[in-house]
Parts: sequence; structure tokens; C-alpha cells
Amino acid sequence: MSTHGLFIDGTQTEASSGAESSIVNPATGREIARVAIASAADVDRAVTVAHARFCDGIWRRAPVRERRDVLHRIADLVRRDHERLARLECQNAGKPISAARGEISAVAATFDYYAGAIDKFHGQTIPSEAKGTLLTFREPIGVCAAITPWNFPIVILGWKAAPALAMGNSVVAKPAGVTPLSTLALGELAVEAGLPAGVLNILPGKGSEAGDAIVRHPLVRKISFTGSTEVGTRVMQLGAEGIKRVSLELGGKSANIVFADADLDACVESSIFAAFDNAGQDCCSRSRILVEEPIFDEFVERFSGRAEALRVGDTADDATEIGPLITPEHRESVTRYLEEADASGATRVCGGERPDSPGNFLTPAVYVGVRPDEPLMQEEVFGPVVAIAPFGTEDDAVQLANDSDYGLSGSIWTRDIGRALRVVRALETGMVSINSSSSAHIEAPFGGVKQSGIGREQGMAALEHYSEYKSVFIANE
Ligand code: NAD
Repeated sequence: MSTHGLFIDGTQTEASSGAESSIVNPATGREIARVAIASAADVDRAVTVAHARFCDGIWRRAPVRERRDVLHRIADLVRRDHERLARLECQNAGKPISAARGEISAVAATFDYYAGAIDKFHGQTIPSEAKGTLLTFREPIGVCAAITPWNFPIVILGWKAAPALAMGNSVVAKPAGVTPLSTLALGELAVEAGLPAGVLNILPGKGSEAGDAIVRHPLVRKISFTGSTEVGTRVMQLGAEGIKRVSLELGGKSANIVFADADLDACVESSIFAAFDNAGQDCCSRSRILVEEPIFDEFVERFSGRAEALRVGDTADDATEIGPLITPEHRESVTRYLEEADASGATRVCGGERPDSPGNFLTPAVYVGVRPDEPLMQEEVFGPVVAIAPFGTEDDAVQLANDSDYGLSGSIWTRDIGRALRVVRALETGMVSINSSSSAHIEAPFGGVKQSGIGREQGMAALEHYSEYKSVFIANE
């Protein structure tokens, strides 16, 4: 079992209150670490250091090549420690080891991408009516808060910290209370890579205390939040005080639309992971599947057959496909959705059982006969639960898909490219894939519409959120 402090000014430090939390492996229920919990006083300490680093300019005024090299070195160190970090994420977040390995590779790719982006995102010269020259600079904002959820801890930290650092900002990161370990590890690697101490600080702690104190802190100028729509709403309200820049990546209830002409072999295999990857604890999870009527029965049979064959269990085993839910409380919450759906007359085709083993496991559940207004069609269950419903026409599919407060992701399966593009344009969603379930690509903007959030991560678009324009006029007479 390991012990960890807060990570402030490049070094591990105790929490001012002495408080600690017990970090548990969701697959075994066993304690794996004890981690200091930040109080409001610790938040003040970390933000003050981050602000001082911003003001002294050690990072933001460093030559472009220096900042680029540091970010590439972070990527190199993540690759050097790939297996260690994958095991950490596997044990702390309950991820099957094969999935955790993929996530660590994605983190390295993120730092490489933003290292390369540094000298490609810049101001302009603008033709002027006045007698002179107009220029813009892209300037860093100051202390940026990175508040992250437990479902993809280090991946989402990378999506925030890499572009923020690329633009020359300081960062105060707050991982979710239950999954701080990989975030703390990345903080250490960043300093080893040459990032000046105090530019990236990490504060494990409770949302209601450390998170709240970060959002309220007057020296925090930008908040990048990923989490539930409920907490995101509060973050946005609090951010209004002090006119903080706020970007939000929130919940989803994405639709997977399957037309009768789809390549069903590819579709079923991909749709399984679109619904159940990360045990369904994925904001982009396609937890509603809409299937054209002529192939509905065949799809349900093939999909549920594959769901029953998924390997659920030991996360350290390379062959495991589905891990546990994050906490016993979260499994209870998902189970309540199943009980409610059962009671309302929906048909559970398979799954929803608790294997007789330690850990918060739940077998993948497939439902049919859920009405469009019922919770399994409207709410983000955030577990291995999918509802499959038939549709008649293309318009019906679009109407059902858009019948949601969320608008994060989605998929369309068809061989008719004209139809695919019509449906893409009609869907109210931030991302959509055709004949694929893939949502996150480091080169492209990632984020949602409606109550799924504001702003975009990834791609060059993320740099917009970590920089401000400064317009300059130079008179030439
Ligand atoms: P959550 O909203 O409970 O917590 C997210 C983070 O906010 C945590 O670090 C938490 O400690 C902190 N927090 C909680 N209360 C706070 C407060 N009052 N002030 C400041 N910070 C506070 O979410 P979660 O349960 O950790 O994660 C699951 C949610 O995240 C799901 O809704 C999921 O869809 C969403 N998510 C979205 C994306 C995306 O990119 N759109 C990606 C992953 C997860």
C-alpha cells in the first residue's frame, strides 16, 4: 500500500488538516493507497504558488522550443512508465488492464500533439482602416483549474493540462476523490520532464471542499470541468462571480442508430463496446440503440448474445473485457435503475446480475420495451445498461435520437452515404461517427451541445479555451 501527499510547488506535501482518504481497488474492495485530502487552505496555497509562477513568467515566457521539448519529454516519460501507469489506472479506476494500456498510450499522444501545436497556434496581422498595423497575440490566461471525473482520470487530465501548459498557463488539477493516483503520478513526471515546480499542482480532495474552493478562488481565471451536468451547473454559476472562463464537459445519453442496410457483423461488435466499455461509465456511451424495424429482432438476438459472452472479472487479466463499477454506492444506483425498469414492464433480455465475487461487478444488461420518456432512455445511468428500441423511418430515428436533454456523441450505421450525411446534419450532438463507435480523436474537437457541455477539448480547438486574444495597434504616422 502506498501513501501520497498533495502535490504543490513540485513536491509532495501533507494536507494542512492532516486528513487522508482511503483509496480502494473497485475490483477487489481492498485498500491500495492512502492519499492526503486538500482543504480550502491547501487550495489557497496551491493557487498562490501557481499564480506566482504565472507572474514570474518562468514558464509562459520560456522560449517556444523549451516548452515544446518539456511537453514531448512528458510524453516520453509516460511511455517509459507505460506499464506502471497502466497498472495504477487498472487498480484505482477498475479498468481492464488492456483498456488501461490504451489510455496511457493516449495520454502520451496528447502531450506530443500539444507539444507540436505550440508554434502552430498564433495571432494574426489584420488589414486596418486606420493608418497603422493591427496585430493579435494569443496570450495565456493565468491559473487554470482542471477538475476531472473518476471514469478516465489520466486521459482527461491530459486533455486539459497539455493544452493549458502548451499556451503557457499554470494549472491546478483536482482529480476525483476516489481516483487520484494516476494524476499524482503525472505531476511527478511533469517535474522530472523539466516543467518548473509550481506550474502544475495537484490537489486530491472532495468536490464539495477542494473543488468548491478552487472554483471560488479569485486567482483562478479559468475552470475546465469534466463531470456530471448537476455539478457542472453549479460550477458555471460560481464561475460567473469573477467572470471566470468556464468550459464544461458533462453527461451524455448518446444514440446508436442502426439502419437495416448496415454491416451487422461490424455493427454488433462495435456497438457492444460502445455501450459497455468502461462498464458503461463513459460519457460517450451509446446507451440507447435505435434499430430499423426489419432487423430489430435479429439485432437484439445477436447483440444480447454477444453481451452475455463478454468477459467480466479480474481486471489484471489481459482477456477481461468489462471491469467493475467504481464504488459499491454507484453499483447500487445503477441497480435501482434496473429495478425501476423491471417494475415498469420493460423486458430485461439479459444481464444485470452481480457475480459472486468481491468487487463492484455487474453483468451487462440489455433491455427492450422501454418507452422514450422512461429513465433508461432519458437519464445517464452510467453503468453497463443499454435500451434497444425499434424505429420506422429515418425521420423517426432522428426524432428519437434528439429526444434528450443531452447531445454529446452518437453513431449511425448504414451503407447509404447520402442518408448517413442527412442524419449527421439532423442530429443535435457534438460528435457523431458513421459505421464506427469512436468519439475521441486527439486531432478533432471533443465536446457536446445542449446539457452535455460548453466548449471543446482536443484538437486545436482546445487551445482557444486556454488563451486570450490581445489586439495591438501600431500607428505608422
Ligand atoms: P462529478 O460531477 O460528481 O465530479 C466531477 C469532478 O468534480 C470531481 O473531481 C469532483 O470531486 C468535482 N466536484 C464535485 N462537486 C464539486 C463542486 N461542488 N465544486 C467543484 N468540483 C466539484 O462527476 P463524476 O461522478 O466524477 O463523473 C461522472 C460524470 O462525468 C458523468 O456525468 C459523465 O458523463 C461525466 N463525464 C463527461 C465527460 C465529457 O467529456 N463530456 C467525460 C467523462 C465524464
